[in-house]
Amino acid sequence: MRDDTAASALSEDELEAIRDSVRALCQGFPGEYWRELDEKREYPTAFVTAMTEAGFMAALIPEEYGGSGLGLTAACTILEEIHKSGCNAGAIHAQMYTMGTVLKHGSAEQKQAWLPKVASGEIRLQAFGVTEPTSGTDTLSLQTTAVKKGDHYVVNGQKIWTSRAEHSDFMVLLARTAPKDKVEKKGDGLSVFMVDMRDALKDGMTIRPIRTMMNHATTEVFFDDVKVPAENLIGEEGKGFRYILDGMNAERTLIASECLGDAQWFIKKATDYASERKVFGAPIGKNQGVQFPIARAYASYRAASLMVRESSAKFDAGEKCAEEANMGKMLASEASWEAAEMCIQTFGGFAFAEEYDIERKFRETRLYQVAPVSTNLILAYIGQNVLGLPRSY
Ligand SMILES: Cc1cc2nc3c(=O)[nH]c(=O)nc-3n(C[C@H](O)[C@H](O)[C@H](O)COP(=O)(O)OP(=O)(O)OC[C@H]3O[C@@H](n4cnc5c(N)ncnc54)[C@H](O)[C@@H]3O)c2cc1C
Repeated sequence: MRDDTAASALSEDELEAIRDSVRALCQGFPGEYWRELDEKREYPTAFVTAMTEAGFMAALIPEEYGGSGLGLTAACTILEEIHKSGCNAGAIHAQMYTMGTVLKHGSAEQKQAWLPKVASGEIRLQAFGVTEPTSGTDTLSLQTTAVKKGDHYVVNGQKIWTSRAEHSDFMVLLARTAPKDKVEKKGDGLSVFMVDMRDALKDGMTIRPIRTMMNHATTEVFFDDVKVPAENLIGEEGKGFRYILDGMNAERTLIASECLGDAQWFIKKATDYASERKVFGAPIGKNQGVQFPIARAYASYRAASLMVRESSAKFDAGEKCAEEANMGKMLASEASWEAAEMCIQTFGGFAFAEEYDIERKFRETRLYQVAPVSTNLILAYIGQNVLGLPRSY
């Protein structure tokens, strides 16, 4: 993640070397591993440990803080390859990019205190508390408050869909520090905090897991007079919404890369199966009714991939990339879903048997059209911010 220093752009050969090493590591985590966890809704601790020890989670942290200092394109390559290999990065991706808020807006002391430990995995910074049950996508209407009292803030409220909260030491929290009707600019009044969840759990914070249709370790988090040291405020009080927005292009591009990985996994599965499976004495892939949806899914994946790559290249070059990040996320999430649908249809009945992993990946990849931002909100961004159409909100 760019700090003030531009990230070094890697050559195609170097990116290929990253792909090779991610793929090699992922081979140790085959379908059975994920299937068993999925059934029990358990966290992939062994996978997370392996990825952290290999240094992949510290890709975006500059070398001076113990990371690899790679750019977004390299980080995208890592996540794409994880998903292409049939694994799932949902348990780890936040360790990669949540620290971006600290890196970009934290003080020198904060960066020195936290980033080396995030890079080594000693601090798990996996939780990102923005969404609330009542405000949903309308982030500026969130109701969790942080009130300054002496050398600390007192936090009250509730977050929902805070993923990995049970497996995180710190949470990047967005809370209101000034009432909505008392701020000059619409986006002011929200602040970002690094909440030490180990302390908060002893001091009024409660985590309640939400069981979802896929294995995602997501939760509700309740704050009841939780004290957060004032020194854990990131940047300036009241400017937090802007800091969170700043990180969204990176997040969207990274998540889009996971979709691209999923799409390739489904396309490979379907292509292999359609070439081997014989019905009426011939491979089913000979029938254009089977072949064309595979070809179409491939074309959709390739088109999305170009947009995602453009987004990460612009990000790495320090250029504005909100348009590309949003479009890349939308197109990639639709391409992975199209490929998932196609794969189910190609396999017919066998797609529904758990042992083929298709139904699991199908459930997993559906999420991306909703989180971290839903398609409608991307379309609204394109309509309003890119094309200048009238605003709906
Ligand atoms: C498994 C999972 C993990 C998640 N992890 C995290 C996390 O770690 N941290 C976090 O903070 N959040 C997380 N989220 C929340 C996620 O970012 C939101 O669910 C998502 O942004 C959509 O918000 P919402 O669910 O509140 O939908 P709502 O805002 O209630 O919207 C519902 C529907 O209405 C549509 N809609 C709303 N307003 C408009 C409009 N003006 N125009 C057109 N359509 C509109 C939306 O597009 C959506 O389809 C997670 C969600 C899930 C399901």
